[in-house]
Amino acid sequence: MFTKILIANRGEIACRIIKTARKMGIATVAVYSDADQNALHVNMADEAVYLGAPPSKDSYLKADKVITAALQTGAQAIHPGYGFLSENAEFCRLCAENQITFIGPPSEAIEAMGSKSAAKNIMEQAQVPLVPGYHGDHQSEAVLKQAADEMGYPVLLKATAGGGGKGMRQVWSSEEFSDGLAAAKREAAASFGDDTMLVEKYLTQPRHVEIQVFCDNHDNAVYLFERDCSVQRRHQKVIEEAPAPHMSETLREQMGQAAIQSAQAIGYRGAGTVEFLLDTHPETGEQAFYFMEMNTRLQVEHPVTEYISGQDLVEWQLRVAAGEPLPKQQNELAINGHAFEARIYAEDPANDFLPATGQLTFLQTPQESEHVRIDTGVLQGDEVSVYYDPMIAKLVVWDESREKALQRLSKALAEYRVNGVTTNIDFLYNLTTSKPFVDAELDTGFIEKHQALIF
Ligand code: ADP
Repeated sequence: MFTKILIANRGEIACRIIKTARKMGIATVAVYSDADQNALHVNMADEAVYLGAPPSKDSYLKADKVITAALQTGAQAIHPGYGFLSENAEFCRLCAENQITFIGPPSEAIEAMGSKSAAKNIMEQAQVPLVPGYHGDHQSEAVLKQAADEMGYPVLLKATAGGGGKGMRQVWSSEEFSDGLAAAKREAAASFGDDTMLVEKYLTQPRHVEIQVFCDNHDNAVYLFERDCSVQRRHQKVIEEAPAPHMSETLREQMGQAAIQSAQAIGYRGAGTVEFLLDTHPETGEQAFYFMEMNTRLQVEHPVTEYISGQDLVEWQLRVAAGEPLPKQQNELAINGHAFEARIYAEDPANDFLPATGQLTFLQTPQESEHVRIDTGVLQGDEVSVYYDPMIAKLVVWDESREKALQRLSKALAEYRVNGVTTNIDFLYNLTTSKPFVDAELDTGFIEKHQALIF
């Protein structure tokens, strides 16, 4: 096992990783920008190395400085967390060139999943079911439009380089296609410097169900069940839960196997998430799932899986990266109870969720227990700056049933107090106590459909 690792991240996920490292007796090195000199992750780590100015491109995205920091402090491995350098194949290679272990998949696997269209090609080969659509190289408007006309409207245009819900556009008819394509391409070019598009059948009421997978260097692969992340705003997750409601054992196993097949198709190693859309036939009630993409990192919402599986996924990551076999086999894993995660953000729901900044003048969090877990990177008095994601904390709860877990969630949300910046806490409370949410009537259009109940 490593004796020292560097965490190339900040905020809650850096703190989360440090906790497990400490539990395993591994020393930690934090990195920080000017804005984070006194941040919690810096104080929690055994050592800290300064990277640069607050904008991420001058600090947390500076691959060479991160590598130098690891070499100088004698860290044998780097945990990239999520975001920043976590899905950067070049950074992964740079680690290898410097004899540093990248705690994540091989660079080839990151690359293979980096383009949504290339990923779909690979999954097609591996016989994983795909959302019907066109993901070819021919990019002329005529070709793309013909594909859309043939599959029938509505369709969804997606940037192959996309992420974070950007570069996506619904098109409802043949007449709208040309304008929709131009708009999606503009946004993709601005966000990713690449306006290659794929066309997918737009499913109108799907659920987002994703499978947590894990692979090691010894040909072992398991799935740690699913998370339902259907409650989204602008294609971004707001609430996650595990297990997914209305999921039969058969479907769970089929999706789990498909996820393992996906991971094995690209020689995966470590923690990964295979995202599927789950569609229910309006008349027959039959459920079909389709591969959407694979995320080659630890996900924000991994704590709900940790709660229901009783496993520490960061510990698994460290063990696998150090060359150990997976801590458990499939038949040793089982679902216990139900967990929810609510993402607490500094943002203003009354003003189109505009990110809020400022000092957290007062912070009172619910009591942590075996039922309530708070993953955060801030303390009272800290500043929510303009430079980074304005997430304040992840509130995660667990109990033996969905109903009981939901009670824990509403109680914890009611107890959560933040002064100094506007937050989405009331919005989360209204959402998770609304009847359709309690009744688990979930699909990706949930928030839009139930606006009147939530706002
Ligand atoms: P990104 O990488 O930008 O997050 P994804 O491909 O993961 O984009 O999709 C994000 C969300 O968009 C999904 O969770 C789902 O809600 C919605 N979505 C994606 N593809 C489709 C589709 N074909 N039909 C309906 N909704 C979709």
